[in-house]
Amino acid sequence: VKEKIQSLGPNDKFISFEFFPPKTDSGLRNLLARLNRMSALNPLFVTVTWGAGGSTSVKSLDLAATFQNDLGLTTVLHLTCTNTNKEIIDEALKKAKENGIRNILALRGDPPRAEEYWTPNCDFNGAVDLVKYIKQEYGDYFCVGVAGYPEGHVDGSDTSFQDPNKDIPYLIEKIEAGADFIITQLFYDSEKFIAYEQLLASYPQLKNITLIPGLMPITTYKVFTRASKLSHATIPPEIFEKLQNSINDDDAVKNLGVDILTDIIDNINTKTNGRIKGYHFYSLNLEKAVASIIDKSKVLRPIMELPTNNITRDDAILSDS
Ligand code: FAD
Repeated sequence: VKEKIQSLGPNDKFISFEFFPPKTDSGLRNLLARLNRMSALNPLFVTVTWGAGGSTSVKSLDLAATFQNDLGLTTVLHLTCTNTNKEIIDEALKKAKENGIRNILALRGDPPRAEEYWTPNCDFNGAVDLVKYIKQEYGDYFCVGVAGYPEGHVDGSDTSFQDPNKDIPYLIEKIEAGADFIITQLFYDSEKFIAYEQLLASYPQLKNITLIPGLMPITTYKVFTRASKLSHATIPPEIFEKLQNSINDDDAVKNLGVDILTDIIDNINTKTNGRIKGYHFYSLNLEKAVASIIDKSKVLRPIMELPTNNITRDDAILSDS
């Protein structure tokens, strides 16, 4: 990932997509068909999530290997390091390497919902320990990404300490341990992201690191409110108002969602003077909203117009999600 980003021209932009491993075989077949179409949008990389405590380890590794080897996509495997054991992590890194996967998103992980009391395990307390471990065991074989929080990280539901300034020392630790890029938590208040970009730029250790905003398309009102709540993302009043009249009309919500996300990208690009090179989409394994946003965004549209040897972009936009 790092090398691909470095090879971009000064005005080039990139996109990337997150996927989670489907539970069923038919879900997997559908996803792979979608991926074939979505690769026509030219993502620089795709990522595969890792279930809490390694609960999806086999499926995540299989999916990541399929993306990397069968679809030829640069793949980032998410890996969490708490509520798990070192064997699972060792096995994941070994299998990732065997399958030619060169990128890991190193995360701490959240406690599984059923677990009332949660203690980190003794090997890894936070993502920084995983970054260090990967570097210690594999040197520079893996390019490592880490998470960032434009509105501040929240553990559980206690938002009283939600403050991006508070996260900075831990973010610096992760970068100094060898992380190459940051993907952020989802947000809908683009001003919060813009302030975060400036905050990072004010620290010499962070100012040159690739910062990739995480964007979740709005597909239904229910999913949107749930995702915002879970991630503690602020919903700006103007976005809230826009969606209010259409709560029960999924098509209207989708269309408004495309406009909202396009405006977010536009605002970020303008107010950061184009410094943000890449935009990461939490796709929820759906393609239509992502494809429509990229198609509509004047910042990102040139990416999908690059030549591909795959099927056409129109197939991706028109296909049913
Ligand atoms: P860390 O960077 O270790 O810590 C996060 C924050 O906790 C710090 O910024 C700081 O505020 C606090 N903190 C850390 N260390 C200390 C310390 N020593 N003392 C006090 N405070 C401290 N979860 C999954 O289970 N699977 C996934 O696939 C997954 N993918 C994700 C992808 C992205 C892009 C993001 C943003 C999150 C993802 N998560 C995933 C969620 C993630 O696991 C949680 O947000 C988790 O609570 C924090 O992980 P982290 O890697 O940011 O933790």
